[in-house]
Amino acid sequence: MTSIDQVLEHLASNHGRILGKLIDFAAIPSVSTDPAHAADMRAAARWVARALESAGPFTVRTIETPGNPVVYAEWLGAPGTLTVLVYGHYDVQPADPLEKWSSPPFTPTLRDGRLYARGVSDDKGPMLIPIEVARSYFAVAGTLPVNVKCMFEGEEEIGSANLDAFIRDNTKLLAADVVLSADGAMWRIDEPSLTVSSRGLVGLELTLAASSKDLHSGRHGGGVANPLHAMATLIASLHAPNGRVAVAGFYDRVRELTPTERAAIAALPFDEGKYLAQVGAPAPFGEPGYTTLERQWTRPTLEVNGMWGGYTGPGQKTVIPSEAHAKITCRLVPDQDPAEVIALVTRHLESHVPPGTRLSIAPDGHGARAAHIETAHFALEAAGAALYAVYGVHPLIVRMGGTVPISELFQRRMGLDTVFFSFSTADEDYHAPNEFFRVHRLHEGLEAWARYWEMLAETRR
Ligand SMILES: [Zn+2]
Repeated sequence: MTSIDQVLEHLASNHGRILGKLIDFAAIPSVSTDPAHAADMRAAARWVARALESAGPFTVRTIETPGNPVVYAEWLGAPGTLTVLVYGHYDVQPADPLEKWSSPPFTPTLRDGRLYARGVSDDKGPMLIPIEVARSYFAVAGTLPVNVKCMFEGEEEIGSANLDAFIRDNTKLLAADVVLSADGAMWRIDEPSLTVSSRGLVGLELTLAASSKDLHSGRHGGGVANPLHAMATLIASLHAPNGRVAVAGFYDRVRELTPTERAAIAALPFDEGKYLAQVGAPAPFGEPGYTTLERQWTRPTLEVNGMWGGYTGPGQKTVIPSEAHAKITCRLVPDQDPAEVIALVTRHLESHVPPGTRLSIAPDGHGARAAHIETAHFALEAAGAALYAVYGVHPLIVRMGGTVPISELFQRRMGLDTVFFSFSTADEDYHAPNEFFRVHRLHEGLEAWARYWEMLAETRR
C-alpha cells in the first residue's frame, strides 16, 4: 500500500471525527465586523492554533495585527520539494436576519447531508480540510509531501484591512512557490471547476451641487440648475446606449481574449435563458460583441450603485435640492490599473459637468487589481489532476466576475500566483441566512487536498 492510499484510508476512517471538529469550530460566533464578538474572534484564533498544534509537528504562531491576529503555521521538513502557502480565514459574516434561519446560526445542525451554520461554507469547512489532511499525513507517514505554510486571517469578511501590510512586512516568513487558497468557491455543484481569474474593483462617490441650501421650487424654479437633472445627464454620459462604457481610454489596457479562450468559455454549460429567468431579467444587456459570460468574467464594467438627493418621502415637497449624489464602482480586468481607471473616470466626469453645477469627487478605498493565473501553471495543472482523480471528470476552467483581493495582494507583494482550491459551492448561501456546507464536499475536499499535495510533490518545475 502506498502512502497516499494509507492517508486516504486514514482520512476516510476519520470522517465522523472531522465533521465533529467542524461542528465545534462553526459554533464559535467569530463575526469580525461586530465589536461585541471580539472575544469570540480570539477564541476562534485559539481554536485554529490548537487545531494546527495538534495536527502534527507544525511550528504555530499567533501573530498580532492592528485588528484580528493571523494564525500562522509551518512545517518545512521536505527539503528539495515545493513550499505551498495555504490561505483561509476564520472570521464569518454576521448572521442576521436571525429570524430567517431554520436553525440557530451558531448551533451547527445537520439536515439532508448538509451542515447548516454561519461560516461553515465560508470559510471554516474549506479551511479545516488542509489542516486535517496534514494531520493524516503526519499520522500515517510522519511527514508531508511538500513544505506547508498556513496563514489563516480573521478579517476577510471586513475587507482584510491589515493583510496588505502583514504580507508586506512578512514576505520572508511567507515565502513559497504558490498560494493555495482554501477560500473561494466552485462555480456549481454538478461539475468540479477551477477559477483562473477574478475581476478587480475601484469605486468613487460624486456630488453635484447647485446651491448652498435646498430651495423652494416656486420662488427659485427657473433661476438655478437642479442637481438631480444634472446628475441624470452626467450619469447617462458614462455609457453609450448599447451598454459600452463611454469613458475615454477605459478599454485601452484591456487584454482581448484569444480565440482559444473564447472557445473555452463558449463550451461551458451555461444556459442564458435559465440565468435570465433566475435573476428575473427580461433580456440580456451589456457591451456589444461579447457573450454574457464574457462580459461578466472578462470585460470591465462601470456601474452606478446608488443615486440620491431631494425629497423621496410621501406626498409632494416643492424643493430644488442643493445637492445630488451617486456611487460608482468599476469591475476591472487584467491589465487595468485601479488608480488609472479612477483618473480616467474622474476626467470624464470633470469634462461633462452640466452647466450651473459644481462637481466634487471622493475616491472610495484604494481598489484592487484583477487577478489571473495561466491555465498552464504547474500548480493549476496539478489541481486539475487532483480533481480528476476525485471526480473522474476534468474540471471546468471558469472565471469569477467578483473580486478576491488576496490573489492580487500575493501577486503584487510577493509575485506569487494563487490557486483557489475550495470545496464550498457558490450556491451555499454564505452571505445569507441558512448558510450550509455539503458533507460530501468535506470528504471530497479531504481526498482532493491529500492527492493535490502528493501531485505537487511530483511536479518538476
Ligand atoms: Zn471567504
